[in-house]
Amino acid sequence: MSDIIQLLPDAIANQIAAGEVVQRPGSALKELMENAIDAGATTVNVFIKDAGKTLIQVVDNGCGMSPRDARLSIERHATSKIRKAEDIFAIRTMGFRGEALASIAAIAQVELKTRRQSDEHGVLLQVANSEIISEEACQMIPGTSISVKNLFFNVPARRNFLKSDRMEFNHLLNEFQRIAMAYPDIFFTLHRDSQEVYHLPAVHHKQRISALMGGSQMPKKLIDVTEETDVVGISGFVSKPEYSKKARGDQYFFVNKRFIRSPFLHHAVVSAFEDLLPADAHPLYAIFLDVEPHKIDVNVHPTKQEIKFEDERLIYNYLKVAVRHALGKYSIIPRMDFDQEGSFSQDRLNQPMQQFPEVPTPRFNSKATNDPGISFSDVVRNRHNLENWESIYEGLTASAAHTPDAPQATLTLESSFHENNSDQNTPAQQGLKAPYQIHGMYIVTQIKSGFLLIDQQAAHERILYERFKQILEQQTPSVQRQLFPKTLEFSPKDAAVLSEIMEDIRLLGFDIEAFGKNAFIVNGVPEHLSGQKEERALLETLIDQFNRNLELRLDARENIARSMARSAAIRSGQLLEPTEMQGLIDQLFACEIPFKSPSGKNCIITFDLDELARRFDHP
Ligand code: ADP
Ligand code: MG
Repeated sequence: MSDIIQLLPDAIANQIAAGEVVQRPGSALKELMENAIDAGATTVNVFIKDAGKTLIQVVDNGCGMSPRDARLSIERHATSKIRKAEDIFAIRTMGFRGEALASIAAIAQVELKTRRQSDEHGVLLQVANSEIISEEACQMIPGTSISVKNLFFNVPARRNFLKSDRMEFNHLLNEFQRIAMAYPDIFFTLHRDSQEVYHLPAVHHKQRISALMGGSQMPKKLIDVTEETDVVGISGFVSKPEYSKKARGDQYFFVNKRFIRSPFLHHAVVSAFEDLLPADAHPLYAIFLDVEPHKIDVNVHPTKQEIKFEDERLIYNYLKVAVRHALGKYSIIPRMDFDQEGSFSQDRLNQPMQQFPEVPTPRFNSKATNDPGISFSDVVRNRHNLENWESIYEGLTASAAHTPDAPQATLTLESSFHENNSDQNTPAQQGLKAPYQIHGMYIVTQIKSGFLLIDQQAAHERILYERFKQILEQQTPSVQRQLFPKTLEFSPKDAAVLSEIMEDIRLLGFDIEAFGKNAFIVNGVPEHLSGQKEERALLETLIDQFNRNLELRLDARENIARSMARSAAIRSGQLLEPTEMQGLIDQLFACEIPFKSPSGKNCIITFDLDELARRFDHP
């Protein structure tokens, strides 16, 4: 038999290698911007068409290339940045592997224009399938312009794998922002189709971070972190605790100006906040670590987003101390108010109970009131064993599901948990008593065979979600609660999302219009939303949530209904009046699907008394 192994042609080898380096438009943008920075540019302009699927162009005023270097630059392992193996451990440039352009040239049509300061004119190369198709001299100012057209035009499988324009653009924005954050002294612009999304002149670091994180209010929300130690220089910013967010988002680490992910270092920052933050609030931060290049390995990840540190533990400790120190210097007193807007959602079941306001522990099924009873946490721990809600739900809402006012009659509520078992046989005659709230998170309501525990936040999300969904589907505009007009400014990224969903949220009852570049005037908000939530918080959570849901690939209206419900729902921790609780229960049982929140969290947990008695050894 003849030999069967062959060397792959370069074009194919490059295409395969490209799979690692260029996963999507965002990764190509990152590589091009990094090259511009490595070339010493002070101005970098980015142009995007169709979320990068048609065009990603980066124009810089850096050192440019000679015609020979330009031709070589698209070859694999072609780099001007290292010459010998040891150089890898002294890297100060963003690139060094000489793979990026070769990879990009293998999977897109590339137009490369470049001119050095000392040359009279530049050179223009057209490249496709890793081959130079044409080369000509051209007039241009010094610098380099690289256009990546029709990404994955020759790899249909990869092209089809790309997500929606809005998702891909989001990735592009993320890459752009991470680089722009680390280089405040470079002037960046970003153009999407023919609109300028970012215009970032060279500024102080704090201003740059602010411009990218959240607009003109941002600087006063940030605290400086600086610490010089023998192994690491630390600089950057963390948000004051009261400006932390419910959603994780703007949290950035850079090592030698390279954005990295590090759950380990994240932990250091968060633990420095310790008691200053409620359990599921997230501080914003952008932290820059400066480490001797030989003490890290950046070559452990294809897109260099993870790195290895020689002194990991030490850096962890220094970082924690630095953040702690910064927080201390500002002598920040926690000013968290759980009942206000922006209080913190998510699953509180995992939190230790001591963190919540003292409320009496309900006791059930006790013959005498001084019986030790069962603690709430005991019951909650068993929630998963007791989720046979359906039968009860069916029993109690056969008629109620269709008539919003009826469930009161079928719920057979009793408010007291100290009454003995025999009372449960005659609940109807007793009339309806108020349901009961525990830990500010759950509403307890008694039914014939036991009781229901209703997660108030999940339940309210369900109610609002169904309402919003209906409004959006039937296009019946909701009413507005009029405000004095308010002008709100958003980050360019948030503003872009808001513009996109504006029509739909108007239907939901927002009277809102664009006002200048990233600002909006809000004249009214949906009438039935819990009145205490501030407009900005409402919209910011909506946008956050909308972005988060993009991963789920929902259609836009589904996403908006979910995000609005999330944003506007009452929170865990919010105290409710008995009438409010009753209203919530009634509305919940009028829902099409009352037992799950739109994101799948349980709204109702049922407790069967017989089951409980058995479980806890009560008679
Ligand atoms: P690497 O950045 O790892 O060296 P790349 O494939 O990204 O590899 O680039 C190959 C080479 O092309 C670089 O080393 C550099 O010499 C040159 N180059 C790429 N982009 C630019 C640019 N914008 N300006 C000047 N030179 C560039
Ligand atoms: Mg590079």
